[in-house]
Amino acid sequence: MVGLTFAIAAARAGLSVALVDRESPATLQAEPFDGRASAIAYSSQRLLDAIGVWRHLADVAEPITDIRISDGESRLFLHFDHRELGAGPMGAMAENRFIRRALFAEAGRVDGLDVHAPARLSTVERGDAFVRATLDTGASIVAPLVVDASGRYSTLRRDAGIAVVDWTYPQIAIVCTVNHERPHGGVAHERFLAAGPFAILPLRGNRSSLVWTERRDLAPAILALDEAEFATEIRQRLGEFLGATTVEGPRWSFPLAVHHAERYSDQRLVLIGDAAHGVHPIAGQGVNLGFRDAAALAEVLIDASRLGLDLGTSPVLERYERWRRFDNTVLIAVTDGLNRLFANDIPLVKLARDLGLAAVNELPALKRFFMSHARGTVGKLPRLLEGRAL
Ligand SMILES: Cc1cc2nc3c(=O)[nH]c(=O)nc-3n(C[C@H](O)[C@H](O)[C@H](O)COP(=O)(O)OP(=O)(O)OC[C@H]3O[C@@H](n4cnc5c(N)ncnc54)[C@H](O)[C@@H]3O)c2cc1C
Repeated sequence: MVGLTFAIAAARAGLSVALVDRESPATLQAEPFDGRASAIAYSSQRLLDAIGVWRHLADVAEPITDIRISDGESRLFLHFDHRELGAGPMGAMAENRFIRRALFAEAGRVDGLDVHAPARLSTVERGDAFVRATLDTGASIVAPLVVDASGRYSTLRRDAGIAVVDWTYPQIAIVCTVNHERPHGGVAHERFLAAGPFAILPLRGNRSSLVWTERRDLAPAILALDEAEFATEIRQRLGEFLGATTVEGPRWSFPLAVHHAERYSDQRLVLIGDAAHGVHPIAGQGVNLGFRDAAALAEVLIDASRLGLDLGTSPVLERYERWRRFDNTVLIAVTDGLNRLFANDIPLVKLARDLGLAAVNELPALKRFFMSHARGTVGKLPRLLEGRAL
């Protein structure tokens, strides 16, 4: 998602880009359901709109109007209502399969974007003056810079000797989709249960995406439950407010971990998205950080090319890293802290956090501050995230 976004943004602004992805519209079609959906912050939606992608998603994404946060059985809660901000929705939920298809659909229409998909990188030689990449299709690409958007297990990052700081959580996220009798009203719920957050995220129609964080040691038994037992476990956590529910399609699981590359660049190489960092999904921010990387890098490279600079050199790539590292570091720390705070059963800690939720709920200024962060409209935003052209 991040690599395609960068490629479209950069090519639309006039750079010549080759995109290599081992997935393609055809492989996505053959695998029609991949389980995950993403909460796209309002500013990321503006970026996707500015590069011509949102029009492919507008009919399948569901606006998130409100966010409701509660702690186990406590009656204290925090409710973010977008109307209190006097702006539009907080963002939108879209299934990842639709986001990827939308990106591929737009990529095929952009002049200056050469799509190699499905294809894999076979070799990458990074020299003083240029990069030469060969693909398993036999194609060869020469460029001043390689942008690595190949995700958490990037081999380009490893081969460049860029170390990562990482740790794993004793948690796993179980993801599935449910159909329900009553409408969700565009409200995203995050309930903090003993093992971690249980998120109920609104999809188009009477459907929701569930992200159930559970203890890692319990996950194999849960994943092995038969359909009726699994549906019962889901209902116990979901409650009755959506009426009768049925689980749609398979269940998926993702071991949870954090990683952060110690630097985002090397000779003629730069990292974006999960190739550079991965956060706990507690706040639904991972791909949003990646979108911000993509927009910031596109802006830095376009500005450099307008000045006639070599795009693969350290001063250019350091400008991108200075811009993005702080935001990514803060989000890693905040999501890690939230997870530790809420996956904690010590009575005093529980009381303090419940009072905290209730207190924030009564403080409109603080609520507006948190809502602006959730919408991604805070800080020095790349032009595309403000909906402006590059
Ligand atoms: C349970 C869960 C829920 C989440 N929910 C949210 C959410 O609501 N909101 C949010 O913002 N984030 C969320 N995230 C995080 C989000 O899913 C990731 O941050 C995001 O997928 C990262 O995107 P990416 O494009 O950087 O990397 P990836 O999605 O890992 O994509 C990497 C791409 O590189 C390609 N590739 C890899 N190697 C090669 C190669 N050698 N040759 C060619 N192609 C290659 C792959 O095919 C793939 O297309 C969630 C994560 C989890 C685990």
